[in-house]
Parts: sequence; structure tokens; C-alpha cells
Amino acid sequence: MAKTYRIKKQRVAVQTADYLAVLNEEQRAVVTAAPGPLLVLAGAGTGKTRTLTHRVVHLLKQGIRPENIILVTFTNRAAREMLNRVEDLCGSVSRRLLAGTFHHIANRVLRDHASAIGYQNNFTILARDDAKEVMAAAMADVGVQPKKQRFPKAEMMQQLVSYTINTQKPIDEVVLEKAPRFLDQTARIGEVCRAYVQRKVRMNLMDFDDLLMNFKVLLNEVPAVAKLLQDRAMAVLVDEYQDTNRLQSDIVDLLAAKHQNITVVGDDAQSIYGFRGADVNNMLHFEQRYPNSRRLALTVNYRSTPQVLALANETLRHADEGFQKDLQSVRPDGVASAVVPCRDVYQQAEFVVQRVLELVDEGVSLDDMAVLYRAHFHAMELQVELLRQGVPFVVHSGLRFFEQAHIRDVLAYLRLIYNPNDELSFRRSIKLHEGVGNATADQLWRELSAMREQSNGQFQGKLVEALLSVAGKRAKAGVKKFVEVVGELAQPKMLKAPDEMIRILLESFYGDYLEQKFLNGRERQDDIAQLADYAAGYEDLSAFMNELALVEEFAAEDPQGAEEKEETLTLSSIHRSKGLEWSRVFVIWLAEGRFPSEMSFREPGGVDEERRLFYVSTTRAKDEVTMTFPMLHRQRDQAQVLMRRSRFVEEVEDLEVEGEMPIVETWLLEDAYEDEEGEILPITTNEDAEQIEQGES
Ligand code: ATP
Ligand code: MG
Repeated sequence: MAKTYRIKKQRVAVQTADYLAVLNEEQRAVVTAAPGPLLVLAGAGTGKTRTLTHRVVHLLKQGIRPENIILVTFTNRAAREMLNRVEDLCGSVSRRLLAGTFHHIANRVLRDHASAIGYQNNFTILARDDAKEVMAAAMADVGVQPKKQRFPKAEMMQQLVSYTINTQKPIDEVVLEKAPRFLDQTARIGEVCRAYVQRKVRMNLMDFDDLLMNFKVLLNEVPAVAKLLQDRAMAVLVDEYQDTNRLQSDIVDLLAAKHQNITVVGDDAQSIYGFRGADVNNMLHFEQRYPNSRRLALTVNYRSTPQVLALANETLRHADEGFQKDLQSVRPDGVASAVVPCRDVYQQAEFVVQRVLELVDEGVSLDDMAVLYRAHFHAMELQVELLRQGVPFVVHSGLRFFEQAHIRDVLAYLRLIYNPNDELSFRRSIKLHEGVGNATADQLWRELSAMREQSNGQFQGKLVEALLSVAGKRAKAGVKKFVEVVGELAQPKMLKAPDEMIRILLESFYGDYLEQKFLNGRERQDDIAQLADYAAGYEDLSAFMNELALVEEFAAEDPQGAEEKEETLTLSSIHRSKGLEWSRVFVIWLAEGRFPSEMSFREPGGVDEERRLFYVSTTRAKDEVTMTFPMLHRQRDQAQVLMRRSRFVEEVEDLEVEGEMPIVETWLLEDAYEDEEGEILPITTNEDAEQIEQGES
């Protein structure tokens, strides 16, 4: 006969009782809700994240042990912040919680259980670059020769595999959706996927997607481990649930399968990761998956002034899909937001920097300000202007524009022309060509150095022949192309036109290279076209190189290092700004074709996803949103074209009054100078350009 004997575990002491006092009634209802599936569908800034944190405290107070609580956050930083708060209220228990991003939690679990699925627990996490090598080997296993036949390159294969895993869709569906031109190769693509998986298992390697995939496999296919984890998961809490993909929501459901005590919070109007496979239906269908679930709402926004919210609400009113009703503010009236048409990108950068410095003078900390943008390259001129004026800034996760691989590739060529002794740039640029690896690069560099005297640093005549003669068979075509491109770039007239050099690179081979190699090859080409436009502002190669030296010197400093305590302005893509807040928010490059992006016009639902992105950007602001865009922009053909203000600006710019205060004001910029008496006098005004623009649209 068996009998149950219970061991009493000590409760965590919650040191303060007022964790409920700082919440409103709706929030308290969420925090104290009885165990069971719970969906909180609520707008921006209504305290979802705060409420989730306090629910953790409440669960601890109820006697649930920290080990039994799983808290999933969008970034590890968010997890840290939430845990700090828990720590304030409960003392040092937070390390015992299983908290962090999906990847973080999966990694922790797999460290204990990977051996159950054919791995060893000391598996290595594969960095993206190394994963590419493994993929290339897997392609060879299957007998694919991407150089000889039409087949996705290793990088693209990686991206296809990643999307397949994250959406849990069959591979043929993914090929159809993402790379239809390879549809005839679907069967082989599937074979490569399998070979890729086998290789990784053999080498005890997991890439980032494997962490999630294998986490699910453990839960789904290894009953003993699943039971252990499901017993443990007495409470599962998920923030930013609207942006989970299918794989992630499966994991959550499996984890919560036993206790069914799952709390998810999210805002359908902020779902912005569709392009990566996130599916807002995970949230919208929550109630079908959990028929006995409760739904609670939070309706009061604590973050923003009524003026900021009036702006944000208006944006959603223009959406095709219906979202929940307007956000209500509890805060007193604030200032109006600003729409600022700028002459061009340079004036846009100048304006933002001057305005930021002015706000600092008024006592707003740099830490309380952010500049947000749709795409990384939109901040290029701004980064340069900030460097020039010595304003400290951080670029939120994501490389600074000039540190991105494709930008560095292009710059390597320019550098090599500028300084033919630059071995690093030589190696980087020649290795971009078919069949040229380290060995060939070494050999060619030796040859080049030996002949430098005679060749005068120019890639011509005899030197070219010599290079070709030392190149191995496999590398010949690549070296030939390299020599051709460099020859074209090195023409004397080019030295006056760095922008032309960049365009030549793009057209001669680098555009194709990106297209072949990356699913987002188009976007990368856009970055480079933008770089060319930017270079057009410099009189010659040398001036351009000098400016870049400044940027690089700065980049070499560790941004997170010594100066950590210094106040810094945040530059961030909107995607990365999720869940965060600042007093003043600048949204730049609000022009049609940029934000919303050109690409979104072609995709079904594309513009609505952009609109939600815009909504996310404005709802980051507590006190003021400043929206800017250039009216004139130099395009590829060097002519200045008129840009049209974004539809998102058009939709809100005529909003009038909320409470006592106007909601939006348009600012007309004029260049000015300070005369001897200290009087500020205008030089030019933007009103003319403004009128042209309106006449156009
Ligand atoms: P987002 O949708 O952007 O993720 P959210 O719903 O998660 O927003 P929080 O970040 O939790 O909202 O809260 C927004 C701001 O409002 C924070 O500064 C938070 O501290 C504050 N706040 C939330 N609830 C209250 C409250 N009851 N009293 C005072 N301030 C509050
Ligand atoms: Mg939040």
C-alpha cells in the first residue's frame, strides 16, 4: 500500500504588502486572478509589463516557489528589469525564477536535458557565421553544387530553414512563400535541411533556432522530461505575446499543459514581427485553445499625455483591421507634438541634434530621449551629425550603420583604391569573389606587393596578368572580375566621385552577390544605394574617407564600456524599441516609400503592419513626439526629387485640440544666423519647398 506524505516548503517572504497599492483596480484584478488561463489584451502603456511583474510577486506570496514560475520576456534586458522589481519587493529570490527570452529559457532547460534527444548536454551554440559553414557542408553532403547549378546559397538556405522552424510550416510552403524562384528545387532543399540537422547533431552543435526547436521536441516527444517540466511549470507568464511565432506559442502551451496556469499579455495593435513569422493569431485564438480562459482588460494609459495619445489613437482609426477602443490618459495636458518638414536629410539631422541639445538645456536628460526609425540606414546622416557635435549616443542592439557587413564590404573597395597598401581591405574585397579564399588572397597579396614598385599601385597591365597567372583554376574567374572592377574604380575621374564608385560596385557584381546570398538582399542594396547618395555630398574620395575615419574612430570605442554612466541619447529601430519609453521621441524619415516602406506596398497587409509600427513608435513617448521628414532627396540618378510626407503624418497633422492644448503643430524651419548684436536673423525658409510639395501631392 502507498501513502502520500507531504513535505512543507518554506514560503518566500514578500516584504511589502503594498505591491497591490500601486496598481489600479483593473491591474489588481489581473495580479490577483485565480490560477488558470488568463489573457490580458490591452493597449500600449496600460501597465501590462508592470502588472505581469506584480503577478509574479503575488504568486510568490501565495506560496508558489520561484523555481515553479516561468516568465518569458521579449529581451533579456526586460527580464532583468522585471526581476529587479521583484527583488525590490521580495528580496533575492529572483535568480531562482526561470525567466528570460524564449532562447534563454530553452538554453537553460537543454543544458539539463539535451542528452534525451541525441545531443550531449555540453552542446555548443553555433554563431550565425559558423552555421553557414555547416550549411555549406550539408549542401555538399547532398551533392548540391551551388556554384554550378541554380540553388539557394548557404545563407539563404539558413534563412529558409529558420523561417520554417519558427513558423512550423512545411518547407515546400516556405519555399513558395519566400523564394518561389527555387520552387523546382524544393525536394533537394528538403534533403539539405535534413543533412544540416544530422551534421549539427553529430557535432553536438545547436544554432539559435535549434534551441527553440529542441525545447519543443523535449516537451513533445520525451514524456519523462515533459512531465518534469510540466510539473515544474506551476505558473507561466508571457509578455509581448502578440509577437510570438507558432513555435514559441506551441512551447508555451506544452509547458502549461498540466497546471494550465498561464498568463499572457499583449496588444494586437503592436504586433510588428510578422515578417519573421510572428503570428498575432496566437493571441487572438487563445480563447479557442483555452475555452475556460478569462480575459481581462486594462484601459488606462499611464505613460503618455492626452496629446500623445490623441495622436496614437488617430493612427489606429485609419487601420483596416479593427483594434480595441481608444487609450485614455490619466496624465494632465502636455505639449503638442510636432510635424517638421525638413529641406533634406542633412537639415533633418541638424534639426534633430539642435533640438536635442536645446531640450538638454531645458533640463531633459539625454537618457530620456530617443530617435526612432523604420530602417537602420535612415539614421546615417544623424549618426554623423551627432559625432560631429559630440553628442553621446547608443545604437540599440543592431550595428551602427557603418559596421554592417555589406557596408564594410563596399567601403573595403573604396579604401583599397584610396590606399593600395591596405592589405585588410584588399583581402576583404577580393574574397567576395567566387572561388577566392584565404590561400588565394595571401598569394595574390604577395604577388601584388612584389610588383608594387613597377605598377605604381595601379591595377593594370602586367600586374593583372601576373595576378591571373598565380590564381588557381577555381579562383580565376573571380580574380578576373575583381581586377575588372578595381580597374574601373581606379580610373582617375572616379577619384572625384565616390558615389559613382559605389554605384559601379553595386552594378558590376555586388548587387547580384547580395541578391544571391541573402533573402533580404534588396534591403541591403537599398542601404548601399543610400550610402552612395550620402557619398555624393563629398567632393572627392579623400574627403569621404576622412569623414569615415571619424566615424570609425568613434566606433572603435566600447560604447557600453568606460563611459557607461554618461547620459546618452538612444537611437533605435522601432522594432527594437518595443516595451520601452522615453520622455521625448523623434521619429525620422517619415516619407512615403521609406516609412511606410516601398516593400510594404507590395505585400498584402504590408501597410497595416507599417502602421502598427508607427503606432509603436508614437506610444513610446511620454511627453512629446517630433515627426520629421526630408522634402527633397538626392536619388540614385543624382537629381533631387520631391519626397511625399508619409501617409501616417498626413493622417494626424490636422488634429486639433485635446483638453486645453493643440495635439499637433507644424514647424516651419528656416536657416538663420546670429548677427553681432546676438539677434537671430533668417536666411532661407522652407516655406517654398513646402508649397511645392503640397502642390505635388
Ligand atoms: P507597452 O504596451 O508599451 O509594453 P505596457 O502596457 O507594458 O506598455 P508598462 O510599461 O507596464 O505598460 O507601463 C507604462 C508606464 O506606466 C510605466 O512607466 C509604468 O511604470 C507606468 N504605470 C503603469 N501602471 C501604473 C499605475 N497603476 N500607477 C502609476 N504608474 C503606472
Ligand atoms: Mg510592456
